[in-house]
Amino acid sequence: AHPVVAIVGRPNVGKSALVNRILGRREAVVEDVPGVTRDRVSYPAEWQDKRFTLVDTGGWEPDARGIDASVALQAEVAIELCDVVMFVVDSRVGATATDERVVQLLRRTKKPVFLVANKVDDAAQEHEVASLWSLGLGEPRPVSALHGRGVADLLDDVVKVL
Ligand code: GDP
Ligand code: MG
Repeated sequence: AHPVVAIVGRPNVGKSALVNRILGRREAVVEDVPGVTRDRVSYPAEWQDKRFTLVDTGGWEPDARGIDASVALQAEVAIELCDVVMFVVDSRVGATATDERVVQLLRRTKKPVFLVANKVDDAAQEHEVASLWSLGLGEPRPVSALHGRGVADLLDDVVKVL
């Protein structure tokens, strides 16, 4: 089986947009309404001749446990089944209380974690991601899933650890 790269993060940060960018086609459903990806969905992906399975986590529907617990639980499952984690945050919003729940899980895992700061659509916004160093997950990687900015550099480093 190929190594599994899981994309985790709260609703609307651009996980599905990032999946589409990595696949090079629009397969994952991108929605302005948070929580549209209902299940974990796996896609065969390839970069630099390395094959891996990309898992778009979703289903972050707030249920009886509430949104924070739902996101944390889904992230926990994803972290368990994957080999590498891409944790996506919205660079325009910064880390929220919901993100913080996931951050605590990620700090505990020994698996490689990439901190992806999405929605950095132009160079002028790049410096804003520096504050995300404080999450303790290493270097924030500025990307724009929408425009493709920074995604190749990120993938180069992800496949190095596969
Ligand atoms: P998900 O819930 O995390 O899967 O997020 P989606 O991929 O569905 O995206 C949520 C919203 O953010 C949509 O309106 C996207 O068009 C928007 N979005 C995603 N990536 C970017 C980006 O790089 N830049 C900007 N400006 N918007 C983005
Ligand atoms: Mg989605």
